[in-house]
Amino acid sequence: MLAAIISLTGLGFIAAFGLGVASKKFHVEVDPRLVEVEEALPGLNCGACGYPGCSGFAVGVLAEEAEVTGCAPGGEAVALKLAEILGVEVGGIDRKVSVLKCGGGSGKAVMEALYDGIQDCRSVVLVGGGGKLCRYSCVGFATCEKVCPFDAITMSSDDLPIIDPDLCTACNKCVVACPRDVLVLESQKHQVIVRCSSKDPGPRVKTVCSVGCTGCGICEKVCPVEAARIDMNLSFIDPGTCVDCGICAARCPTDAITDGLLPRTTVVISEECTGCTICAKVCPFDAISGQAKQLHVVDPDLCTACGLCVPRCPVNAISHSGPEATATA
Ligand code: SF4
Repeated sequence: MLAAIISLTGLGFIAAFGLGVASKKFHVEVDPRLVEVEEALPGLNCGACGYPGCSGFAVGVLAEEAEVTGCAPGGEAVALKLAEILGVEVGGIDRKVSVLKCGGGSGKAVMEALYDGIQDCRSVVLVGGGGKLCRYSCVGFATCEKVCPFDAITMSSDDLPIIDPDLCTACNKCVVACPRDVLVLESQKHQVIVRCSSKDPGPRVKTVCSVGCTGCGICEKVCPVEAARIDMNLSFIDPGTCVDCGICAARCPTDAITDGLLPRTTVVISEECTGCTICAKVCPFDAISGQAKQLHVVDPDLCTACGLCVPRCPVNAISHSGPEATATA
C-alpha cells in the first residue's frame, strides 16, 4: 500500500515537472494589446473585415496583416481607436457600401410572365427568372433585404432594393446572396453609377428595359478623364479614375447612369486669381473664361464641379461652392 502511494506520488511529481517544462518550452507570448484591440471592436462578428470574427481581425491587426480601417461597422471611430492603440497613422478612410447595378424596376423592365412561387430571389432565378424579360436584372423578391443583418436594405415600390449607406457596413452578405450579381461593394464617395448589368446587345436591351445600358459608347466619348469604357455591351466606369463630374449621366440617352450629386454645385474663383489661365486650360467643359492676368470667372451652367481645376490653381483661388461637391481630383 505504502509502496503504491510513494510510486503514485513520484509519478505525480514527474508529470508536474514535465508539464512545467513543456509550458515553458511551448509558451506563446500574447500581445498585451490584444484585449484592448478586441474591446475597441464592435463585437458583431459580421466578417466584413474578411476574418472569421472580431477576435480574428484583432489578431490580424496586431500582426499588421489587417488594416486598422478594416472594420466597416466600426467606421472611423474604431479605426482611430485602433490606430491609437497601435501608434500608427490612419490615412483617408474610404468607406465601401453595397451599390445596386440595376435600374430595371417592375415599372421599367418589360415583364413576360407573373411569378407566384417561393418568395426568394435564388428560387425565382432557378425556375425561370421571375417574369422580367431581362435575364441580368434584379428579380426583386427581396432576398438581399432579408439577409441584411443591419436593416440597411428596404424594397422600393418598384421592387428594387434601396440601400441606406449610413446603415450598410459592407458586410457583403447581400452581394453573396443576390443570384443576379446586381449588388457590388463600391466606395461611398463614388456617386456616378451605371445602373445596369446587362451584357446583351443594345437592340435586345431596348426591347426588355427602358433604362438599360445599350452600350452606345456616349459615356466613353464624353468622359473627360477616360474613366468610362464599354465592355461586353455595357458601360463600365472606373471608380478610381472617375472624378464624378456627372457628364456621362447627363448625356446617357437611356438614363442608365445615375448622378448622386444632383443638384450639382459649381466651383468659384476668388479675388486671389492672378489670371494665369491654367484653370481655363484644364477645364474639360469650357466653363472657365477670362483674359490673361485678369480675374477668371466660372459659368455655372457649364461647370460640373468635377474639381479638376482646383488642385491646378497655383494660388489656391478656386474652391467648391457647396457641401455636395465631392470631386476627388
Ligand atoms: S438585388 Fe438580388 S437579392 Fe435583392 S431583390 Fe434584387 S435579385 Fe433579389
